[in-house]
Amino acid sequence: MDLYEYQAKHLFGQHQIPGTPGEVCSTADAAHEVARKIGGQVVVKAQVKTGGRGKAGGVKLAANPEEAATAATAILGMDIKGHTVHRVLVAEASDITEEYYVSFLLDRANRAFLAMASTAGGVEIEEVAATRPQDLAMIRVDALLGVDEKKATEIVDAAHFPPAVRDQVIAIMVKLWKVMVDEDATLVEVNPLVLAPSGMVLALDGKVILDDNANYRHASHADFVDREGTDPIELRAKEFELNYVKLHGEVGIIGNGAGLVMSTLDVVAYAGEEFGGIKPANFLDIGGGASATVMANGLDIVLNDPEVEAVFVNVFGGITSCDAVANGVLQALEMLKSEGSPLSKPIVCRIDGNNAVEGRRILSEANHPLIEIVETMDDAACRVAELAAARKARK
Ligand code: GDP
Ligand code: MN
Repeated sequence: MDLYEYQAKHLFGQHQIPGTPGEVCSTADAAHEVARKIGGQVVVKAQVKTGGRGKAGGVKLAANPEEAATAATAILGMDIKGHTVHRVLVAEASDITEEYYVSFLLDRANRAFLAMASTAGGVEIEEVAATRPQDLAMIRVDALLGVDEKKATEIVDAAHFPPAVRDQVIAIMVKLWKVMVDEDATLVEVNPLVLAPSGMVLALDGKVILDDNANYRHASHADFVDREGTDPIELRAKEFELNYVKLHGEVGIIGNGAGLVMSTLDVVAYAGEEFGGIKPANFLDIGGGASATVMANGLDIVLNDPEVEAVFVNVFGGITSCDAVANGVLQALEMLKSEGSPLSKPIVCRIDGNNAVEGRRILSEANHPLIEIVETMDDAACRVAELAAARKARK
């Protein structure tokens, strides 16, 4: 889970990392009030889960509460790289003498963590890496040894931080590593980490990615889940505990096993080219034991996606045999019908594997008006793309 800057700064605050936490607001009036409370110059910052907010005009300084309200009005509702701004962070503004960059990230390929640090912060770090790689220190961090003061010193010295800030940055690196470990993060990044005229080093921005696999260890992280920023269908899928990702296309996909679903997305996108660019509408893996309830939940999610014109159920019977899957699909449609779900979108089923013949027989005998059985994955992909294109053309 990616965190917003204000959430990252909240975690930083809990770990005594100096910064400008501020308060998050969703209206100009609230921004006015927070700026009044803070007093003096404030910075009003778009809260979106993407970088480059500064360049996009999503970070504005304000000298007084009136200016803060004006800045909030300008920023709220703004679109930054496809993200709509619903909230702004209003924080005490800091003057900046120097801007630095520091981060820790999980380096999967090397089975370790990576520390990065640079005294050339404030700009995008990819740019520093590309144009002046000598200014970006990259130090491997052993997962078992972690970052103590000695390791932090190695990182800070490799990046040639000036003596005046060295000790402060070392202390901050040790604390950021604590955030990494204690919060189960896979990324902790501060850009810019600034030197203020007072001599203090402060985190002016924060980016944190938490490892969702560790959520069970962090009840408090549930508060970070962002309801308005998440697609409503994805939220519902989460409630059903389904492995669902919304995409933008016309063919709803339901399959079992991540690998099969991924290749289903590919064949549908490929087949869809013939029909004016029909694309898969989602990733949905219903897993091994495709019970009727799971299938019903899956169909419920996919059929209720307004972008979906046709559904492709692509199941390879393994542990669960195809007759159980076929009955599951039929029962699922019964369940949805009895709940009053409007059922009109065609469903192409390709079922293969364990007891496939019996599974297909069950489906064809049921003679359900919405279901079409196609034997191979490629043919099914073609057919579902054709059906989706036809329905789309009629709109
Ligand atoms: P990003 O562009 O999304 O990474 O957003 P940042 O939080 O990093 O802000 C972008 C830039 O705005 C920073 O690099 C700073 O130059 C500037 N900025 C952010 N906060 C302050 C502040 O408190 N005071 C001043 N003077 N500039 C700020
Ligand atoms: Mn930044």
